[in-house]
Amino acid sequence: SKTPSLTDFRRIVVKVGSSLLVDAGAGKLKEAWLAALADDIAKLHKEKRDVLVVSSGAIALGRAVLKLPKGALKLEDSQAAAAVGQIALARRWTEVLGKHGIIAGQVLVTLGDTEERTRYLNARSTIGKLLEWRSVPVINEIDAVATTEIRYGDNDRLAARVATMASADLLVLLSDVDGLYDAPPAQNTKAKHIPLVPRITREIEAMAGDAASDHARGGMRTKIEAGKIATTAGVHMVIASGHVDNPLSAIAAGGRASWFLTPANPVTARKKWIAGSLEPKGTLTIDAGAVAALRRGKSLLPAGVIRVDGAFGRGDAVIIRGPDGAE
Ligand code: GLU
Repeated sequence: SKTPSLTDFRRIVVKVGSSLLVDAGAGKLKEAWLAALADDIAKLHKEKRDVLVVSSGAIALGRAVLKLPKGALKLEDSQAAAAVGQIALARRWTEVLGKHGIIAGQVLVTLGDTEERTRYLNARSTIGKLLEWRSVPVINEIDAVATTEIRYGDNDRLAARVATMASADLLVLLSDVDGLYDAPPAQNTKAKHIPLVPRITREIEAMAGDAASDHARGGMRTKIEAGKIATTAGVHMVIASGHVDNPLSAIAAGGRASWFLTPANPVTARKKWIAGSLEPKGTLTIDAGAVAALRRGKSLLPAGVIRVDGAFGRGDAVIIRGPDGAE
């Protein structure tokens, strides 16, 4: 397999880690870095690509603004901090993208919004509409109310879910690490950087040490989990360091990164997911013309349906049978 290039992709989710966005000492956002990232995003957007941002930093920014003491925060403290941070974060995204004439749209989600099929479809159509309007969705978890048991807690996996939900073809994880190493690089100077992962194997998973930094939650482990979610659903993933200005341009220029490839094309993977993970709620029997159309990759139209069995709603999986009863 060969390393893809950023220009191979038409719909890109960019996940931005807290440590990149927030200057904890100064108690504010890293403005110059954010402006440079916005330049990168605007460039991709101008090339007619769809860009979605999953922005962390609500908790980190909130605690910086509130001058909360260093160290782990209690859940209720981090939730209240997120309430302060998110509002400022969203405003800055609107401003930095607005400078390029791009309209940002804030989408805040809970774990349930991406796990439950009907809510997933609602969130998906909102995001789809924003992209249709050429807006850049700026997404985060609703940290202020998400409780321990029912939250992501890390934006790596959230971003992977968003990427699958939006049928993106690439997920970019920008954080303080420049990719995957065969051993945790902090403890091991001989650790080798892995530029290309054709498939996430047990061996690859074993390489993910705990590279967690100060205020971000996700280490390499959640990044590999994100990679599994993304790549099994037809989304390529790349991990690159955000510790440079214009990190997306750096990736485009072939800079240091780890690419995780998806084995299947997106449509196939999505269909596999529908077939494999949902209980069919009904059966549609269709005529020969409709069978031929589906085989050519066309959509099913009501006129081709000759019989409907079962009770189902939007987002439910159904079985489709030809006139001879074959599935
Ligand atoms: N949703 C969290 C925040 O905005 C980020 C979690 C993470 O660092 O991955 O603060």
